[in-house]
Amino acid sequence: MKLPKDFKNLVNEIEKLPGIGQKSALRLALYLVDTQDANPYALASALVRAKDNLQYCKYCGALSDNEVCEICSSSDRDKTKICVVENIIDMLAIERANFFDGLYHVLGGVISPLDDVTEDKIRIRQLIMRLDNVREVIFALPASLEADTTFLIIKEKIHQYSTNIKLTRVAIGLPVGANIDYADPLTLMQSFENRYHF
Ligand SMILES: [Zn+2]
Repeated sequence: MKLPKDFKNLVNEIEKLPGIGQKSALRLALYLVDTQDANPYALASALVRAKDNLQYCKYCGALSDNEVCEICSSSDRDKTKICVVENIIDMLAIERANFFDGLYHVLGGVISPLDDVTEDKIRIRQLIMRLDNVREVIFALPASLEADTTFLIIKEKIHQYSTNIKLTRVAIGLPVGANIDYADPLTLMQSFENRYHF
């Protein structure tokens, strides 16, 4: 069946989203243009606004409305603790669980030479620059060889900076490759409580 050009275009764009197959893309496109309740204009403008206005916090690397995010600028957060995560999704999962009162640092990936992710491509240097007054760096990285390598490299750099910073690692009982996002809030909290020391 030949689809109208503009409809086909819409389907193609939706299909580029992660986790969306051709059938779902068709269904979503149809919903957006053919349902009374749908408001494609609101969706389009929210999307453009978010893309245009959001920035990355200059300290932690999280998405932010301003140059410095709400967490980094809050006086309620314990600035002596930084939790290192691979990506913003993991940070949001921990934040949603609502037990951690320190700061975060989003690496933006883990070192993986095979995928051309070398140590200068993730935010390690920015982490080292934030270590003034920090007493503990907690690593909440996924269980993978790449995450282990990343941890070892960062550990070395922190030790070069200071040997007085406590380094801990969260042991989340997740299968290798699974995201921190998969853990429920209670499991996350327990794994933080049972973090081990290096
Ligand atoms: Zn921040």
